[in-house]
Amino acid sequence: MAARHRHIKTGLAVLMLAILPAGAPAQTDAMPNRVRTEYGDPANPAHQQIYDNLKQQRVLERLGEFLSPFRFPRDLLLKVEGCNGKVNAYYEDAVVRVCYEYLAFIYDNLPRGATPGGLAPEDAALGPTFDVFLHETGHAVFDMLRIPLVGREEDAADLFSAYILLQLSKEETRTLMRGIAHLARKEATAAMAETLQLKDYAGVHSHAGQRYFNLICMAYGRDPELFANAVSIGQLPAERAAGCATEYAQFEYAFQTLILPHVDYELFRTVRARQWLRPQPPE
Ligand SMILES: [Zn+2]
Repeated sequence: MAARHRHIKTGLAVLMLAILPAGAPAQTDAMPNRVRTEYGDPANPAHQQIYDNLKQQRVLERLGEFLSPFRFPRDLLLKVEGCNGKVNAYYEDAVVRVCYEYLAFIYDNLPRGATPGGLAPEDAALGPTFDVFLHETGHAVFDMLRIPLVGREEDAADLFSAYILLQLSKEETRTLMRGIAHLARKEATAAMAETLQLKDYAGVHSHAGQRYFNLICMAYGRDPELFANAVSIGQLPAERAAGCATEYAQFEYAFQTLILPHVDYELFRTVRARQWLRPQPPE
């Protein structure tokens, strides 16, 4: 069973951080609209349909516009590409790469009918697709904007993605979160079915079950009315649910303190007011 996206972190970025003096002046050429996109040719013919769908729906272009408010010191490239069978996604050196294999994994795990939470199958791929790009973009933001982290980077990247998606309209947020939760729950169930050794807990990612509950806790913490079924259908235990508003607020405080200063606020307001899930004709 393939795991939820992992990433590799560039050793160079870590080295650069080590040799730069503390308090180095901020990059002066940071500006919004620095996200570029690229559709790599699918090496595997089985991925041609995914390539065609992504291009037809302008998925990367929309993600690039969605992320345009971030003032990056250099261009960030979002790319889809074939990964020789690996179901994965990566961030390294200002490039986010999502494998066609990972997108195929999303499609292979779509619900066959409406879920108990009311998610239509045709909408179920949207959330995980946004989520994988935003998780990797989280790594890009931490690296390119030199955001200090107190805690594990993989958890922070998960929360970054959830937090961004929870800023959209209630309708879009609900659709996205239900899609992500559906896949995360399937992965958690599969992970629970395996007999785990101690070393299985040594990874940089939290266990799939923890990632699932971290996600729905963020959603419930953001809007307990909209995500009221997180407790009933999502099986979020009441003792965890009670603290989710505080957990959400804790991440929001970090985001507003550390990341928001790198966001073009006017552009952010424009982005936030738009609808993102339905394909729109080029402007
Ligand atoms: Zn990651």
